[in-house]
Amino acid sequence: MHKIPNPQTPQTNSLLITPNVPLADKNWFGTGGSAKFYCEPADAHQFQQAILYANTHQLEIFILGQGANILISDEGFDGLVIRPMLTNITTLSLNETTALIKADAGVTMPNLIDHCLNNNLLGLEEFSGIPGTVGGSVYINLHYFEFLLANFVIAAEVVHKKNGSLATVDAQWFKFGYNDSELHKKDYFLVNATFKLMLATDEQTAFAKGRKTEIIRHRAHRYPQVRTCGSFFRNFFPHEVTLEVDNKKIIFVAYYLDKIGVKGTLKSGNAIVSPQHANMIVNLGNATSTDIITLAREMQKLVQEKFGILPQAECQLIGFKNFPLL
Ligand SMILES: Cc1cc2nc3c(=O)[nH]c(=O)nc-3n(C[C@H](O)[C@H](O)[C@H](O)COP(=O)(O)OP(=O)(O)OC[C@H]3O[C@@H](n4cnc5c(N)ncnc54)[C@H](O)[C@@H]3O)c2cc1C
Repeated sequence: MHKIPNPQTPQTNSLLITPNVPLADKNWFGTGGSAKFYCEPADAHQFQQAILYANTHQLEIFILGQGANILISDEGFDGLVIRPMLTNITTLSLNETTALIKADAGVTMPNLIDHCLNNNLLGLEEFSGIPGTVGGSVYINLHYFEFLLANFVIAAEVVHKKNGSLATVDAQWFKFGYNDSELHKKDYFLVNATFKLMLATDEQTAFAKGRKTEIIRHRAHRYPQVRTCGSFFRNFFPHEVTLEVDNKKIIFVAYYLDKIGVKGTLKSGNAIVSPQHANMIVNLGNATSTDIITLAREMQKLVQEKFGILPQAECQLIGFKNFPLL
């Protein structure tokens, strides 16, 4: 165990860097090997310390949220896994119609949504029932039907991966797209984000709370809830597909997988395509990451053979020596 003293802010506890930490219990698939080194910074300064430690020891960095959109290789991650445990939520400003809420990277989206609803702040409840932290959700530009997290982000604080310097950025800096943000370049990591939300009446808030319950109920019916990463592949961009129904391009990867008939049937070891959703892989209990990646490759192959288009992973693949998909 390495203990990094913190001379600049002595009131902050030193950051512990622990070697050889299993990651299977820290991701939603429940698979994968260990982190060579692991730490959980509790504030921005410790986050900076972790980055400097990695750079001093020439360790690759992986930032872990709730592990709801990752597959970690069975060999684990040969570097430093930083799991930001920064969990403050602060109201920055409030007027008659809107509020600015700053949430740290380690705050979970369900907690943030509950905090907002308890304070009559609306908007984020459309993402109810989706697991993950603010960090992971800004990274991917969380989406549910037409709702995008980018529509609420107005500013953020990020930390540079090399020198650990902090910077305040605006929403444009992120260059948000479908499944995309500036964070994908991995030059900066998110420390916190500021969201602009609507200040509502008690009646509007009661309605939004009901909507949250309804969304969660609907999702439980449609999607698997455990040992999955949600959608394994991203949807296609319109220019990638030619198939049209009613003059509309079919961009949904689940549509193509459904046509092939993989739902609840296609398996590899202890990984199976969910019986509920053709684009979701489920660990039946003791699958390995190799089972999951083998199944994903087979799904790609089937879609490519039948439709001539190749699904691309939405799930982030961590610690694989070579890119494991087609
Ligand atoms: C059951 C289920 C349903 C889902 N449904 C949806 C859905 O409807 N819509 C949707 O968009 N997604 C969905 N997902 C995917 C997942 O919930 C989101 O991608 C979520 O935002 C992941 O957050 P996380 O904290 O778990 O990130 P992780 O999975 O831990 O990490 C994902 C990526 O984010 C990066 N990251 C994490 N924190 C930071 C940070 N502070 N700074 C920089 N990068 C960071 C990681 O390095 C990694 O590359 C679903 C997943 C599951 C398991």
